[in-house]
Amino acid sequence: MKRFCLDLTLEELKEWCRAKSVQSFRAGQIYGWLSSGVTDTEGMTNVPKNVRAMLEEDFIFGEFKVLEKYVSAIDGTTKFVFRLHDGNIIETVVMRYKTGLSVCISSQAGCKMGCEFCASAKAGFGRSLTSGELLAQVLVSGKLMGERIRSIVVMGIGEPFDNYDNITGFIGLVTDPDGFGLGARHITISTCGLVPKIREFAALKSQVNLAVSLHAPNDEIRLKIMPVAKAYPMEELLAACHEYTSITGRRITYEYSLFAGVNDSVRCAEELAGKLKGELCHVNLIAANEFPGSAFRRSPSKSVAAFRKRLEELGINATLRREMGTDIMAACGQLRRGMEQS
Ligand code: SF4
Repeated sequence: MKRFCLDLTLEELKEWCRAKSVQSFRAGQIYGWLSSGVTDTEGMTNVPKNVRAMLEEDFIFGEFKVLEKYVSAIDGTTKFVFRLHDGNIIETVVMRYKTGLSVCISSQAGCKMGCEFCASAKAGFGRSLTSGELLAQVLVSGKLMGERIRSIVVMGIGEPFDNYDNITGFIGLVTDPDGFGLGARHITISTCGLVPKIREFAALKSQVNLAVSLHAPNDEIRLKIMPVAKAYPMEELLAACHEYTSITGRRITYEYSLFAGVNDSVRCAEELAGKLKGELCHVNLIAANEFPGSAFRRSPSKSVAAFRKRLEELGINATLRREMGTDIMAACGQLRRGMEQS
């Protein structure tokens, strides 16, 4: 089966050149074009036509199509819906911060994790994305925005650690100084808590930031909203997170979406603070987005404020995630779900 052009590392392109008797410096030229967001061979103007034809014979080019683009009238957040070469649909969201553009990418077309509050889970699972398809979201969206992407969060559709090898491959590609050259500290991976993969990732001692979706202070509540809690109870999850911070010396961000009457009481804040006390961490509170068909309601702002205050009183550093692109339904999976239903 043909591979997507952006899956290739510079080394693999050099090998391809050797195998095809193409001069080796062409590998650098091709890699340079690909890293600048050119995903068709026509744009590779300094590569001879016969080499371009050979590339097209062996790899998939030009098949990363923008299906839709939505721009928020509130804050300019831009959501791209991409169609992949095999028809799968993914979403990529670009947000503007003081530090520049940040992109939220999808790691899979759909998701198997089944979180009750998530639109992606409801639309079913297509497949995992390759490392090149992860990279393409960064390169193509930056190109479409006319500006370099400064940071990446892997927090869109899918569970990144359910696609572990491609995620680590992507980190290698996007941080490659000969390629896009982004610093690892500008990348954040968000997992719903796949314990063995958290351990594996810790062993890499990467500078990439880790976020863990907790969304509950105990297993009783977590089990109601996140099926992954069955396989990995909170005690095991927090032990793996502790191991991660001990090995890497890096802080973990715990994501906590607040749902009215489910997990947003002051009692829940106290229980959560008790579990996280002394850990190298920070809690990112999210006033959850509602989507049609969801059984969950957004927590009132009074409850959100009280939750945060109680956490801070108990010594846990907490922030409230800034909402962006609410008018274009920027929460993960909502557009894909809408399209697959229509
Ligand atoms: S919240 Fe994330 S892990 Fe859970 S179903 Fe949605 S995409 Fe998957």
